[in-house]
Amino acid sequence: AVIPVAIAGAPYEVRIEAGLLAQAGEHCRPFLRKDRAVVITDENVAGHWREAVTASFDRVGVASDWLVLPAGESTKSWEQLARVSDWLLEREVERKDCIVALGGGVIGDLTGFAAAILKRGCGFIQIPTTLLAQVDSSVGGKTAINTPAGKNLVGAFHQPVLVLADPLALDTLPLRDVRAGYAEVVKYGLIDDAPFFQWCEANGAKLLAGNHAAREYAIAHSVAAKARIVAADEKETAGVRALLNLGHTFGHALEAETGFGDRLLHGEGVALGMVLAARFSARQGLMSGQDAGRVSAHIASVGLPASLPALGLGCDGRRLADHMLHDKKMDAGMLPFLLMRGIGETFLAKNVDLADVAAFLDEELVRA
Ligand code: NAD
Ligand code: ZN
Repeated sequence: AVIPVAIAGAPYEVRIEAGLLAQAGEHCRPFLRKDRAVVITDENVAGHWREAVTASFDRVGVASDWLVLPAGESTKSWEQLARVSDWLLEREVERKDCIVALGGGVIGDLTGFAAAILKRGCGFIQIPTTLLAQVDSSVGGKTAINTPAGKNLVGAFHQPVLVLADPLALDTLPLRDVRAGYAEVVKYGLIDDAPFFQWCEANGAKLLAGNHAAREYAIAHSVAAKARIVAADEKETAGVRALLNLGHTFGHALEAETGFGDRLLHGEGVALGMVLAARFSARQGLMSGQDAGRVSAHIASVGLPASLPALGLGCDGRRLADHMLHDKKMDAGMLPFLLMRGIGETFLAKNVDLADVAAFLDEELVRA
C-alpha cells in the first residue's frame, strides 16, 4: 500500500510492503543528491538488517555510511543528539541531503530532531523497524529527545520526505515489542473506528503470532488513520491530533511511576491506560460497562496488561494522579482527558477533576 500524508507544504508517502527493507536503496535513491547515503540506526537493528540494507544501496550505486548508536530510550539524549549532529557535519551533509533513520521510535525521534536542526533543517527518510514506529512515531513529524526534566520535552515538528514500512522487519523484533506496538494499533479502533476494533478482536492474536497479511493490513490501516489525523491538525492545535493520546495520560503516569524503562514499555502503559480510560468513562456514566469490558477483554486476551494490581506498584491513586499534573499536555490547571462514549467514540473532556481520577485509581489498585 502507498498512503499519502497530505501535510500542507510538505506532503509525502508512506509505503507499506513486505520486502521494502531489502529494497531500501532503490526507494531512497530518488531522494538522495549524491551517490552516498548516511544511515543512523541502533546496534540491534544493525545486527539484523545492516547487511541487507547496505546491499540494496550498493545495487543502485550508493555507498552507505553508518552511525550505529546504542539501543534503548537513553539514546534520545542531548549527548547522542550532539554525537549525531557532529557526525553529520563531519560528513558535510547539506540542507538538500536526506538522512536515513533506520530503527524504532528512539532512532526516528532522535534522527528526525537532528535533521530538523542540522543547517536549520535537512531532509530525512524514516525506515521504521518496530510496529510502534511503523504505525505511529514515523508518521506525523513529531521529533524529540528526553531531558532530565522529562520525556520528549525538547523537540520539533519536522516531517520526513518518505516513510518505508516493511512488515518483515517485525520478524526479528522481540514479541514483547510487537505486543507493545500493537496497543497503538488497537488505539486507532478505539478513537473513531469501531469496525477496526472489531477487526482487532478477530485478528489480533494472528497478528501477534506472526501472520504477515494481518501485520500488513494493520500497519496500512493504522497509518491511514494517523495520516488523516495529522493532515487535519499537524501541530496539535485543533483538538484533533490530541485524540492520538488516548490511554496516554494514564499510561504516562504508569510509565513515570515505573521509571520509563523495561518494567513497563510505553505501549504496555498505553494498553493499560486505554483500559483505565474505558473503565473511568464507564464509571462516569459515559460508556456502557459492556463496551468497557470489551476493551479490557481484548487487551488481556493478547497478553498486554489490563489491570493495575498486576503491576505491583505499591503506591496510591493520588500519587499516580499527581504524575498526570506534570504531563506537558496540561492546560491552565485543567486536566484535559480523553474519554469514551463507546468503542470508536473518543472525545476530549476538557475539565476532569483530578480527585475523581485519584479515587477511581484507588479502586482500580485493589480490584481483583
Ligand atoms: P525502540 O526504538 O527503543 O525499539 C525497541 C527495541 O527494539 C530496541 O531495543 C531496538 O533496538 C529494537 N529493535 C528495533 N527494531 C528491531 C527489529 N526490526 N528487530 C529487532 N530489534 C529491533 O522503541 P519503540 O517502541 O520503537 O519507540 C519508542 C519511542 O518512540 C519512545 O521514545 C517514544 O517516545 C517514541 N514515540 C514517538 C512518537 C512520535 O510521534 N514521534 C509516537 C510514539 C512514540
Ligand atoms: Zn504512544
